[in-house]
Amino acid sequence: MPYQTLYRIWRPRRFAEIVGQGHVVRTLQNAVTTGRVAHAYLFCGPRGTGKTSAAKVLAKAVNCTNRAGAEPCDTCSSCVAIAAGTALDVLEIDAASNRGVDEVRELREKVKFRPATGGFKVYIVDEVHMLTNEAFNALLKTLEEPPEHVIFVLATTEPHKLPLTIVSRCQRFDFRRIGKPELVARLEEVSARAGLLVEPGVFDLIARVADGSLRDALGILDQAAALGENRITLADLHSLLGTVAGEVLERLVGHLVSGETGAALLLLREVEAGGKELRIFARELTDYLRRLLMDAFNGDKPAAALSGLRRDDLIELLTLFARAEQEMRLATRQIIPLELAVVTAAQKLRPAPEAPGKAVCPGRAKAPEAERVWASVLAEFRRQNPPVGPWLARAEPVFDGPHKLVLAFREELAKEKVAAPENKVMLEKILNRYFPGGMRVVCVLSREQGEP
Ligand SMILES: [Zn+2]
Repeated sequence: MPYQTLYRIWRPRRFAEIVGQGHVVRTLQNAVTTGRVAHAYLFCGPRGTGKTSAAKVLAKAVNCTNRAGAEPCDTCSSCVAIAAGTALDVLEIDAASNRGVDEVRELREKVKFRPATGGFKVYIVDEVHMLTNEAFNALLKTLEEPPEHVIFVLATTEPHKLPLTIVSRCQRFDFRRIGKPELVARLEEVSARAGLLVEPGVFDLIARVADGSLRDALGILDQAAALGENRITLADLHSLLGTVAGEVLERLVGHLVSGETGAALLLLREVEAGGKELRIFARELTDYLRRLLMDAFNGDKPAAALSGLRRDDLIELLTLFARAEQEMRLATRQIIPLELAVVTAAQKLRPAPEAPGKAVCPGRAKAPEAERVWASVLAEFRRQNPPVGPWLARAEPVFDGPHKLVLAFREELAKEKVAAPENKVMLEKILNRYFPGGMRVVCVLSREQGEP
C-alpha cells in the first residue's frame, strides 16, 4: 500500500469531523436533513481550511443509502466509492492545473444524463477562479438551468476574481482560517491516534506556522514525524521549518533592551550562519514582538529578560522590524535591513551614553566623565548580576555631589528591583572602585512630562 499522508488519512469523513467551520457545517447539515440542498454552492476561504473536504462530505451525504441524520454512513458502496475518488457521479475538476476547458465542455455534454446510481451528480470545481473565460461561459450556461439531479460545489481561495454572474447563482459559504486552539486540538488527536511521540511546544509551533490551514498543519506534522521516525522534537521541527527557538528571539530583544548592540548583531550572524532563512527569522521576530505588544495591552508581564520593555518601546521595535521585513524582499543581502533595524532599535531604546541625557532632576547636570564611569559601572553590574542588569540599564543616573548617586526610574518595578538591599549593596561596591570616598545610591521614581 502506498504511503498516505496524515492529511489524507485524517481527512474529515463526516460533517462532525470538519474542524473550525461550525457555521458552514450546520447550514449544510440542515439542508441535507430537510432535503433543501441548493444546486450551486460557492465555498470561499484560505487554503487548507476544508473546502473540498466539506464538498466531498456533502457529496457522500446526498448519495448515501444509509444516512443517519445528515451524516453519511461511510460504509455503503456509494460512500466508499466517493471516498476513494472512483464514484462515477462525483467529479472533481481542478481548475488550477488545466484551466478546465475540456472538463467543462465534457461536463456540459454529460450533465443532462441522470446519475449512474441514482441520487445526485456532484461536480466539485477546485480553484474555480482559474477557469478560462470560455470555461466560465460554459459553466454559466449550466448554472442558469441546472438539471434537478446536479449539485455544483465551486471552491476558491479568491472569490473576488469570479464573475458576478457566477457568484450570484451560488449559495456562498465563507470558510475561515482555523483558530489556533482548534488546530492544536486536531494535531493532538491525530498524533495520539497515529502513535506519534511529541515534545511539548511542537503543536503550538506548528499551529503558529500553519496560519489557519489544517492541511499545512498536518503536512508539517507528517514531515516532522518522517524526519524523527515518529518522535517529534522541537529542535527537529525548528530545523525542518527553518525557524528558531523562541529563546533566540527573546535573547535578541533582550540584547536590544540592555543596549548590547554588538551582541545583538552577533546573534543575527549566528542565525544566518546556522543556515536559517533570514526572512523567516524576520517574520518570526515581528510575530514575537506583536505577541509581546498584545500581551502588554492585556496587562501580561513579559519574560524576565525583557522586563525593561514598555509599550512605546514595543511599538518602536515592531515598526522597525516590520519595515526591515519589507525591505528584505528587495535587498540583495538579506541581513543588511535586519542589521540596520538592530542598530536603530538599540539607539532608540537606550540612547548612547555620550548623548546628552534628559535632566530628570533639573539643576543637577551630569558631566561627560560621570557618564563614562556610569557606562563602566553598568557593564560590570550586568556581568555580576545578569537578571537585574537590564533593570539598572533603564535608570537615569544623576551624580548629586561627590558621594551620592541618584538613580531615576520610570517604572516602579525597575526601581524596586535595583533598590533591593542585596542589589544596592552590589552596585555600591562597584561604584566604590571609582569613587574611593564611597558613593551612596538613592533610587527614585521619575515623572516625566507627558507620562503617567
Ligand atoms: Zn453511505
